[in-house]
Amino acid sequence: MSYDVIVVGGGHAGIEACLAAARMGKKTLLITMLVEQIGAASCNPAVGGLAKGHLVRELDAIGGEMGLCTDATGIQFRILNASKGAAVQGSRAQIDMDEYRTYMRKVCHSTPNLEVYQDEVASLLVKNENEVYGVKTKLGEEFEAKKVIITTGTFMKGLVHIGESQYEAGRAWELPSSTLSTQLKELGLRVGRLKTGTPARLDGDSIDFSVMDMHGGDPMPSPFSFRTDKSKFSPTQYPCYITYTSEKTHEIIRSNFYRAPLFTGQIEGLGPRYCPSIEDKVNRFAERDRHQLFLEPQTAMCTEYYINGLSTSLPIDVQKEMIHSIVGLENAKIIRYGYAIEYDYVDPTELKHTLETKKVKNLYNAGQINATTGYEEAASQGLMASINACLAIDGKEPFILRRDEAYIGVLIDDLVTKGTNEPYRMFTSRAEYRLLLREENADLRLSQYGHEFGLIDDETFEKVEHKRKVLADAVELMSNEWFTSKKENLELLEELGEDRIKDRALLIDVVGRNTVTKEKFDRLVPNLSELDNYLKEQVLIEAKYYRYIQKQQKQIEKMKKMLKMKIPENFSFKGISGLSNEVIEKLEKFRPPTLFNASEISGITPAAVDIIHLHLNALG
Ligand code: FAD
Repeated sequence: MSYDVIVVGGGHAGIEACLAAARMGKKTLLITMLVEQIGAASCNPAVGGLAKGHLVRELDAIGGEMGLCTDATGIQFRILNASKGAAVQGSRAQIDMDEYRTYMRKVCHSTPNLEVYQDEVASLLVKNENEVYGVKTKLGEEFEAKKVIITTGTFMKGLVHIGESQYEAGRAWELPSSTLSTQLKELGLRVGRLKTGTPARLDGDSIDFSVMDMHGGDPMPSPFSFRTDKSKFSPTQYPCYITYTSEKTHEIIRSNFYRAPLFTGQIEGLGPRYCPSIEDKVNRFAERDRHQLFLEPQTAMCTEYYINGLSTSLPIDVQKEMIHSIVGLENAKIIRYGYAIEYDYVDPTELKHTLETKKVKNLYNAGQINATTGYEEAASQGLMASINACLAIDGKEPFILRRDEAYIGVLIDDLVTKGTNEPYRMFTSRAEYRLLLREENADLRLSQYGHEFGLIDDETFEKVEHKRKVLADAVELMSNEWFTSKKENLELLEELGEDRIKDRALLIDVVGRNTVTKEKFDRLVPNLSELDNYLKEQVLIEAKYYRYIQKQQKQIEKMKKMLKMKIPENFSFKGISGLSNEVIEKLEKFRPPTLFNASEISGITPAAVDIIHLHLNALG
């Protein structure tokens, strides 16, 4: 049987990949190991968070499913950093893990052009040494395809560790993908080993919540998706609870370090530095007398709780003792023990920006296989790999998001140019242009692409264009109008409790003050007081960031001009101070004709490009 696109794996990357391909009109096949595990949340029952919320919004703006699914199945919604500026706020939702899977599975089954098949992809069908033309499954089925997207998550040669015991699995008690990574290695791709871990899950009926602090959702929850009707969005919200580890917990952990796979050398792969296990935290932060833990419901039924902050691979007797030393968990019943998992990944510098591998034609990788961690990072890559696979089939230009355009652009650029030696997760600090890349303007930044690819419908796109026009008109109006120090204006400022102005200021600078609320805005810009609340909020944000945005846009223009700069053929990189030997070696080897081409080489950082630029300028 023959397809346009085959997606291997129905996790967060695979779902976005197969849905996008099918929606772009391509005959698509999703092959995954357990159909009922499509969209399973391997670890925490939550979507979004700082910077990850940005990824979900961007994915949604291009036409991904994660935001819609989270809105439909979320059981607690919060905006993190709500008191800080819009650029660093992050939407986060607890999800009902069971409902999330059901929703995603239903969407996959009901999307035209998409077939779902349960089996393990054992190998790729390859011709002419490096051209993939399909897959072969463990049951012996062969399927041909123009493009294959691999999204195997933690499954390739997965090895679970709990204390001294180990077993082969892709995730607790699920079969691993045992042969695929060997073939990828034979095809010349660099394959490495990473690790991640998860905490125990507890029976809610055995937890004493009365001694814990309750942590609820926002009173006015905001949906993730730009396509969810805000006015009708009122999910039932379930609380989380906060407790802490104690000195006793730490003592139990410390006295069992010698049995922790992380320290005994049993685990070889590197884990996520920013999501360490509890044994790692107790070891690294020995001075801390407690660590905060969140008890998060896994489903609306609330019978099973995830202990956020207590990821571990300690032996089960130690896990039990450690959990029972925590306030409120003295009598907790453990439903599932925590564990660590090691798995094979493919070095992401083996990929082009399209996420196609450089060495193997027609083969794309997306998700945790590319050394990332997190559902949102995986989903973003799945969508991008799929759009690019479809564009390539149609002989069209690739779709590459720039770093100044989207967090997704930053994510993929970081992965394919710099690589990573530990599971990569997104942070706002990774984005140089984060003031431009806000959650709330993801639709303005990206919906045009989704619309062009047929992933965003006309009606949604018209709404985005309306918002774009309202904001542009408002900025135009406010940035062209002086707010002078005439008597009525000074009186108005006084009445609003706002500082006076000296001589005159642009209206946008007055409106952009942090103290200006929607109510004050109505008085300052009566012409726009008819706007609905949502648009008013957006106008206020635009005004607050107006000056910074102008500055960043100038930097971007400068950068674009700089990247066009040609590097003379006889230019020597040797001896340029500030460049490491490794960078010089690469530049001498590839001899990039422009600074842009230099920036595309893996391991060549923006700082290195800056240094070369300075040297080229000095040459005149
Ligand atoms: P997955 O969600 O793992 O999905 C892979 C899918 O591919 C599965 O459905 C599998 O059945 C299928 N598959 C695999 N091989 C084959 C094959 N050969 N043929 C057919 N189907 C195949 N993320 C965090 O952000 N924070 C954490 O703390 C965290 N902890 C984690 C702890 C554990 C124990 C695990 C397992 C994961 C953890 N993660 C964590 C990672 C998070 O689960 C992943 O980043 C995310 O799920 C990756 O999505 P994915 O689509 O790449 O892969």
